[in-house]
Amino acid sequence: MPTKTLTGEVISIGDEMTSGARLDTNAQWLSRRLGELGVEISFHSTVGDTLEHNVDVFRTAASRVHVVVCTGGLGPTQDDLTRQALAAVVQQPLELRQSSLDHIERLFAKRNRDMPDRNRVQAMFPVGSLEVFNPQGTAPGVDVTVEREDGSSSRVFALPGVPAEMKRMFDDTVAPRILEMIGGQRNHIEHHVMKFFGVGESDMEQRLGDMISRDRVPRVGITVSSATISLRITAAGQTEADCREQIQATRKAILDRVGELHFGDGEDFEQYHAVESSLRELGQSLVSVEFGRSAVLANWFAS
Ligand code: ATP
Ligand code: MG
Repeated sequence: MPTKTLTGEVISIGDEMTSGARLDTNAQWLSRRLGELGVEISFHSTVGDTLEHNVDVFRTAASRVHVVVCTGGLGPTQDDLTRQALAAVVQQPLELRQSSLDHIERLFAKRNRDMPDRNRVQAMFPVGSLEVFNPQGTAPGVDVTVEREDGSSSRVFALPGVPAEMKRMFDDTVAPRILEMIGGQRNHIEHHVMKFFGVGESDMEQRLGDMISRDRVPRVGITVSSATISLRITAAGQTEADCREQIQATRKAILDRVGELHFGDGEDFEQYHAVESSLRELGQSLVSVEFGRSAVLANWFAS
């Protein structure tokens, strides 16, 4: 199967970000996800709500990487300028897409409200671009290809700033489209998270060796948070079963190397879950005696 390495840039748009009023968590999340797909992130850019600056940042990004993912500026207000900026970069007018407008109107109807006129702009797309469906909100995303003078091109995905919306849209629509760009038909993705405790990150990396190399298929990403090491396996394949198979084989290979440090599976699985299930199996209970105001242990086990 032909595969190629794509380079990427993540752009965060909004005065909130440039002024420091808000921490840019979208860029971190997107960079991790893109990395898991095999996209090499070369740049992060942050830009305020000024049309001219947005155009500038998009032009620069499209000239230097294969894939650009930006968040913010897709709302219905005056300072939401992403659509206009993209239209300017590809030198195409904005056109109304009826299917998007219908979706936005339906969302308002569901909330028993009339759609304000200004929301119409959210159904406007640069001619030639694709839509990225937003199941949770009114702002659809934009998927547009910027042609370069030398005949090559760069693909820009614009998503809303609201973290929950952009995450869902990335996983449901953007990631499969990027995988298609990378390797043909592998447009199905599955993730699996394994949790470990008991060694430091560098020890763990050493023991895992080539399991965590960037070009391994499926890819294994490593993150550390308060002494817990998470390994995230990202498998791309033609079907869900294909992905599951790859994950199982990789999971086994990981356990062969560091099995004794493994305490559970799943993004939200924490050490106290492992303690709790061991206690249950043994038919034992736990009494915690804690000093200070917050009973951290008791809260964990009560939840
Ligand atoms: P909306 O339709 O809500 O206006 P939008 O696409 O225009 O969506 P923004 O207005 O730029 O997006 O951002 C909406 C909200 O999403 C912001 O108020 C902020 O809370 C959050 N947000 C935006 N960008 C980021 C980011 N990079 N990291 C974290 N949160 C963000
Ligand atoms: Mg907005």
